[in-house]
Order: sequence, then C-alpha cells, then structure tokens
Amino acid sequence: MGSIAYTLAKAQSTQKEGQPNQPLLMNSVHQVYLNGEFVPAQSATISVFDRGFIFGDGVYEVIPAYGGRLFRFTQHMDRLDRSLTAIGLENPLVRDKWNSVLLKLISQSDDDQSIYLQVTRGVAARDHSFPDSVDCTVFVYAQPLVTPSTKILQEGVAVILAKDNRWQRCDIKAVSLLPNVLLRQQATVSGASEALLVRDGKVTEGAASNVFIVKHGVVVTPPKGPAILPGITRDLIVELATENSIPCREEDIPVGALRGADEVWLCSSTKEILPVTVLDGTQVGAGQPGPAFERMLQLYKHYKDEFRAGRRN
Ligand code: PLP
Repeated sequence: MGSIAYTLAKAQSTQKEGQPNQPLLMNSVHQVYLNGEFVPAQSATISVFDRGFIFGDGVYEVIPAYGGRLFRFTQHMDRLDRSLTAIGLENPLVRDKWNSVLLKLISQSDDDQSIYLQVTRGVAARDHSFPDSVDCTVFVYAQPLVTPSTKILQEGVAVILAKDNRWQRCDIKAVSLLPNVLLRQQATVSGASEALLVRDGKVTEGAASNVFIVKHGVVVTPPKGPAILPGITRDLIVELATENSIPCREEDIPVGALRGADEVWLCSSTKEILPVTVLDGTQVGAGQPGPAFERMLQLYKHYKDEFRAGRRN
C-alpha cells in the first residue's frame, strides 16, 4: 500500500478504454488560441516535436474570469514573466496582446471561466540544450469555471500527507508536472482530495494548491521561495487578512503544527479557498470548517463581488 506501483495499477484498472475526457473537453471548449490564430478546438494541433510534449519544456498560467473580467490579471502576467525568465524564454506576446487574446476567448460565454495558457520552447530536433532560435508555441483556452460546491464548503475535504519529492524550483509554474500528478493520484486513490507535501519536516504546499493553517486565531502560510509556487490566491488571502486586521504570518509550518492546527485551508485560482477537515484519516480541529475559514470565505466572496462589479481590481 502506498507504493507508486500499487497506486498506478489501481488507477489503471479503474480507467475506461479510450479517452473518456476528450468529448467532455470538446463540448465545453470551442475556439482556442494557438500561435497567433483562433481556431476550433477540434482542429488545433501542434507538432509531435514540440519541446513541451518531448521535454515538458514550458510554463503555464491558470487565470479565473468573473463576469467577463480577468481576475488578478497583472499578478498572473507578472508570474508568467518570472516563470519565462527563469527558463530563459522571452515573453512571446506583449501584455496588451495577452489581454486581448484572453478577453476574446472568454467572450465566447457568459459563464465564469478558467483560462489555461501555456508557452513552450517550440519545435526543434530533440536535444536537451536550447535550440538556437525557435518560435515559442503559445496555446490558450477557456472553459467554464467550476468552483467548490456548497456541500464541500460546509463539510470540508480530506487530505493526505506525502513526501515532497519535487525539484528545487517549485516557484516556476512549469508544465512538467509529473511529480504533482503522481502525488495527487496518491491522494485520489486514498479517497482524499489533495496531498499536502512535506519537505525537511515542513509543509510546503499541496500538489496543486497552497496551504494555510490557523492556530489560536493566527493565520499562517509558508513563506515564498523555491519550495512553493507563489500562488495568486495565497497572496490575495494574505492581503485580505492584512486589510481586515486578521493576524497573519508567512512562516514555516512544521508537520506537528499542521497536525495540531485548529483549522487547515487549501487555496488555488479554481478551488478558491477550501476547508480541510480530515488529515490522514484524522479530524482537523473540531472536524468542521472553522470560524476563521468562514470569515475568510466571506471576505473572498465580497472581494469577488466587488471585482465583478468593477469596484476592485
Ligand atoms: N501550488 C501549486 C503547486 C499549484 O499547482 C497551484 C495552482 O495550480 C497553486 C499552488 C495555487 O496557485 P494559484 O492560486 O495561483 O492558482
């Protein structure tokens, strides 16, 4: 139990033949942006020699859009710039162009949406070293944003702890996500929603989320650095706590502090904020979403409403 071989075998045995996700995706994604053009999702193709495909050599962003507005656009674009710089790529589009591409994609629907954008080092003969000159591959699509249900917000989710076996540059939002995929799958086969990762006795983040704990009314999240992705939602939560005089610290979280926390939260652009009520099969705090979570959820919702109405950026 717990070995990757076991978890993968179990996952494969429950998988249906073919590509069950393909029709679902095609139904909700119509036009995509690929290398300068808007094309139907079905006819968007890239080369099998794309370095994103061959090496996972690229970076990405996921940006929510509420009421036709791009949420925290500047922060997402700043992080994209940092990721691109870290892997030695120039941003292929100026910010105004990203803005117009993203707005055009979300204009296809009135729903709140989640935008996925990816930039890879393009098509070249297979060689680990960077090609001399190559055009980046730029791919963007938008799909309806599915935020957590009321039931989940009322009951919370279960997580497991797992060894953080990722590389040392988790601050880069890289498309090479195999460790994160395996860690999340480990959570899934254990009946949990997320794996919280532990490096050197400290909790770093989730496989696809940042983490917060609350103890005696103080909100704590790990500091930024190479061990975590600097989450846009994480930053907003820290901002909202500060604006509303909620004690909040950015400091290391030893595993013992996580286990002894009154509350644990997860956050990401698509999950927003989620309460964790079960950790490795044991109840967290009182076993239900706590008062600090309820307060932060209200602040987050209010912020979103204000954003939707154009009163906040
Ligand atoms: N950490 C990891 C590893 C992630 O993959 C994500 C999002 O997917 C996050 C944190 C949360 O980041 P954000 O709030 O910018 O979505």
